[in-house]
Amino acid sequence: MSTHDYDLFVIGGGSGGVRAARIAAGHGARVAIAEADRFGGTCVIRGCVPKKLLVYASRFSDEFHDAAGFGWQIGAPRFDWPTLITNKDREIARLEGLYAEGLEKAGVTLYRQRAQLSGAQAVRLADGYNVSAAHILIATGGVPRRDPEWAAHPRVIVSDDMFALPALPQRLIVVGGGYIAVEFACLMHGLGVQTTLVHRGPELLRGFDQELAAALREAMEARGIGVRLGVRPAAFASQDDRLSVRLDDGSVLEADYALLAIGREPATAGLGLDTAGVAVKAGGAIEVDAASRTSVPGIYAVGDVTDRVNLTPVAIREGHAFADTVFGGRPVTVDHALIPTAVFSTPELGTVGLGEAQALAAHPRIEIYRARFRPLKATLGGSPERTLLKLIVDADTQRVLGAHMLGPDAGEMAQLLGIALRMGATKADFDATMAVHPTLAEEWVTLRGPPQRVGNA
Ligand SMILES: Cc1cc2nc3c(=O)[nH]c(=O)nc-3n(C[C@H](O)[C@H](O)[C@H](O)COP(=O)(O)OP(=O)(O)OC[C@H]3O[C@@H](n4cnc5c(N)ncnc54)[C@H](O)[C@@H]3O)c2cc1C
Repeated sequence: MSTHDYDLFVIGGGSGGVRAARIAAGHGARVAIAEADRFGGTCVIRGCVPKKLLVYASRFSDEFHDAAGFGWQIGAPRFDWPTLITNKDREIARLEGLYAEGLEKAGVTLYRQRAQLSGAQAVRLADGYNVSAAHILIATGGVPRRDPEWAAHPRVIVSDDMFALPALPQRLIVVGGGYIAVEFACLMHGLGVQTTLVHRGPELLRGFDQELAAALREAMEARGIGVRLGVRPAAFASQDDRLSVRLDDGSVLEADYALLAIGREPATAGLGLDTAGVAVKAGGAIEVDAASRTSVPGIYAVGDVTDRVNLTPVAIREGHAFADTVFGGRPVTVDHALIPTAVFSTPELGTVGLGEAQALAAHPRIEIYRARFRPLKATLGGSPERTLLKLIVDADTQRVLGAHMLGPDAGEMAQLLGIALRMGATKADFDATMAVHPTLAEEWVTLRGPPQRVGNA
């Protein structure tokens, strides 16, 4: 019998922490978890889930527009932000309850307060209570990066604030070029907000295939979103309830709010990492090995706080693997390769595997197959938007290295393409697969050559 209060203490009740706590308890461990804010964490409370609900809301404007071509006559639609936010809040509260309930049912002790390390096997809770644990898991996630110069400005906000704005803004400036910036720019535009995205880089979505990123930017511009690349805000000033932003090229933009979506930082402030001697990487993320072990025996870390691949399914997988390995007697390692993912912009971007530049860096010769077409629905709906599919193949082995799509349901397709790529599918496997007709997805199995050949001849 352990002399500790718990076999496992989890700090952070988000995606990774909740999964680890529940699975470890299922393996018979005595588990406690501390959550400083709300169970469910970033994904459920102020990330993936509420964002996707807002994305759904924003896409009705396209449906209303396209309906006429299919014979529907509808009056001028009106959008009510408070209704959306109230309904969203109700659903988030339900999910939060399910998370806490699942933990309690598994026999996990819940502490609804902040916790910090006070030694290698000791945790101090915000109310001063001290507990000991044989193992500690840090799963504190991340927080939006705030520019210290602008942090105090009431109209310069971060993604957390977007879900509780008192009213729909008329004009919004989004600062940033990552997926969170792009998603908010698209969804707010879809809800009727005049939106301008300002990004210091030469193109949106660094790390994604840049042909797809450029195609998305063009589609956003065609929809009426202002995209300003290669510039950054130099100063913010507000007058009454209006904000003006001076960019470093001298131009001035005005809006109700500026959303800073300039990245996220690991949530390690006040965590007492130094008291236990837990090593961090440059940038502040906790250093871990492939088994999520930190530099201190018995202390582990999973999810965004380790800054490996900052996505919910990855945090969940890491938490689950940790619990199976340490408490289930079954060593499991998480494979961080070939993670399918989506950008819930409109149009949507779905991707798995290597982009063109990454593929060329890792393989001497690649072949690229593309399809760019107007989906069937658009022929009557009237949207001029084209869907883009891009398949990247290793010229020597014919193995598919990357599959990228810009268009409706791209995220759904990325999920299934992920299975094919993990199984090592070749272009011939795609070609041999029968089409589902008429669908967008059938284009993946009807891509014909000759391909564009890139790399050493
Ligand atoms: C706007 C937005 C949209 C996103 N969209 C997607 C998406 O579409 N798909 C996707 O896969 N991912 C998305 N993500 C990323 C995803 O939310 C994260 O990767 C995921 O939540 C990470 O899980 P985690 O367990 O590491 O941390 P989190 O979910 O952040 O949970 C950490 C928890 O720890 C708590 N905590 C922090 N410090 C302490 C402490 N000292 N004591 C006690 N509790 C503490 C926090 O309150 C928080 O609840 C999005 C993120 C954002 C911000």
